[in-house]
Amino acid sequence: MDPQARIRHADEANPRLRSLLAEIGQAQRQATAESLGGGATVPAALMVVEGAAARLQEQLKRFPSPRRLACKPACPWCCYSLVSVTAPEAIALASYVQTALPRKVATAIGGRVARTDDRTRGLDVAERRALRLPCPLLVERRCVAYPVRPLFCRAWHSFSAGACLESWKRPGSAGVLVIDEWREVAAAIFRGVNQGAHDVGLSGRSLELSAAVRLVLDDPTTVGRWLAGEDAFAPAKAPPRSVVLA
Ligand code: SF4
Repeated sequence: MDPQARIRHADEANPRLRSLLAEIGQAQRQATAESLGGGATVPAALMVVEGAAARLQEQLKRFPSPRRLACKPACPWCCYSLVSVTAPEAIALASYVQTALPRKVATAIGGRVARTDDRTRGLDVAERRALRLPCPLLVERRCVAYPVRPLFCRAWHSFSAGACLESWKRPGSAGVLVIDEWREVAAAIFRGVNQGAHDVGLSGRSLELSAAVRLVLDDPTTVGRWLAGEDAFAPAKAPPRSVVLA
């Protein structure tokens, strides 16, 4: 999720990769439209999230890491960036906070989400990173919503914890080397979710995590309005170009 990470867009990649990404995105688009079409419901949205995560896990196997990954539990340095989410992901995250965490913790998380949103609303990727403000779901160096973490969090990784720490200390100073294809696959699936939602008359915006989760936690009507076709997540729209960089 570091904006300084080395990026090679699919446009510049080889045609086989481009074609594979299109295929993956199209499959996710279709699966999303099938799940949400004909009367979208919360369980259907959660099913989309589960299916997209499973697809990501499966597709990443096509690109084995050439080096040992440095990622370990309780290593938090990548959780200080802007994270783009789809509406179903925002619903899944908020639902997890509300139903899987003890009430006291859920209330505290709700407060953190609101405070983070107050400080980050409208910031671009670089401005968000420069704040060095943790994701509101990061508690004691761990993600409290790990089982439903967003696609971009699932696909993020690094070959060097030192490089991640350096990048956290001096935002914009260091590049974190990653497997480009992993992020490309996550982006293809992410777009597939949004396009599939759009295909069945729902808003398929890219959203900023804190703002989107806050909308669900603070206003119980948000999810129902989105499922009914209203652009209920519009206030949480992610800044331009954050889908690939997030
Ligand atoms: S959702 Fe979880 S994994 Fe993703 S940035 Fe937030 S704390 Fe980290």
